[in-house]
Amino acid sequence: MVVANQKGGVGKTTSTVNVAAALAQHGLRVLVIDLDPQGNASTALAIEHHRGTPSVYDALVEGVPLKDVVQPSPEIEGLFVVPATIDLAGAEIELVSLVARENRLRRALVGHPQVWSEEDDRFDYVLIDCPPSLGLLTLNALVAGEEMLIPIQAEYYALEGLGQLLETVEMVKAHLNPGLSVSTILLTMYDARTRLSAGVAEEVRTHFGPQVLPTAIPRSVRISEAPSYGQTVMTYDPGSPGALSYLEAAREMALRAVVADGHEDSNAPTA
Ligand code: ADP
Ligand code: MG
Repeated sequence: MVVANQKGGVGKTTSTVNVAAALAQHGLRVLVIDLDPQGNASTALAIEHHRGTPSVYDALVEGVPLKDVVQPSPEIEGLFVVPATIDLAGAEIELVSLVARENRLRRALVGHPQVWSEEDDRFDYVLIDCPPSLGLLTLNALVAGEEMLIPIQAEYYALEGLGQLLETVEMVKAHLNPGLSVSTILLTMYDARTRLSAGVAEEVRTHFGPQVLPTAIPRSVRISEAPSYGQTVMTYDPGSPGALSYLEAAREMALRAVVADGHEDSNAPTA
C-alpha cells in the first residue's frame, strides 16, 4: 500500500503510522517503509534513524537486503519499520545513474523471498510513506506497490495537484506496473463543524466514488501531539476520536482487501 500525494502536510505520514498501528492492533503483521528523507514516520514510531543507521537508503542504493535494515516497533507488537535517515535526501539524485533506477524498491521487496515467504515472517501489509514530491523515490514506491492510499486534506485546494498525481499513476500503470490501483482515498483533518470540510468531502466522494473510505479522519490535537511522544495516537490516546477513526479506517481497508481477494489469507503481502 503506497501512501502518496505530492502535496506536503496532507496527512500521509500521520495516516501511514496510524493505519499501520491500527492494522497491527487488529492482529496483522505490518511493515512500514519510510521513504521520506525527513524520516517523520520513523520518528513517530520511535525508530532509531540517525545518520548511519541501516535504512531504506542502503536497500535502495546499496542493494542491502530489507531484512537487514528492518526494526521492530518498540511499542506495538506485529509492527516493523524500515527507517529513513537523512542519507535518503541524496538518493533522489544517486538513483538517477543506477541500473533499473525505478525498480530498486520492488527488487528489494521481492528479491529476498526468504524474508517474505516463510510463514512466520510474512507481512499482511506493507505501507510505504512517500515524500511530498513525484520524484524517483515516489516512483519507486509506485512501481513496488499494488494499491495506493491517497490522503486528501479536507481543505480548500484539496483536489489541486491530484490530476498530476493521477497522470503519474497512469504512466506507471502503462509502462512500469500494470497491477497498480488507486484503491483507497482517505479524507484527513476533517472538521465536522465547517461547511468547507463537508463541501470538500462531498466533492471528493462525487469525484472518486467508492474508493473514498466511509470514515473520515477528524482534525484532532491528540493526533498531532502523538509524534512528539514517539507514539501513534493509537497508543497515545486510544479512546480519542482520532484513534477510533484510524481504527475504523484500517478495519474498512482490511475488509475491502478480504472482499477483493475473495479469501482471507492472501499469499502475497499487500504492498
Ligand atoms: P504529510 O506526511 O502529508 O506531509 P503529515 O502526516 O506530516 O503530512 O501531517 C502534516 C501535519 O498535520 C503534521 O503536523 C500532523 O501532525 C498534522 N496532522 C495530520 N493529521 C492531522 C489530524 N487529523 N488532526 C490534526 N493534525 C493533523
Ligand atoms: Mg510526511
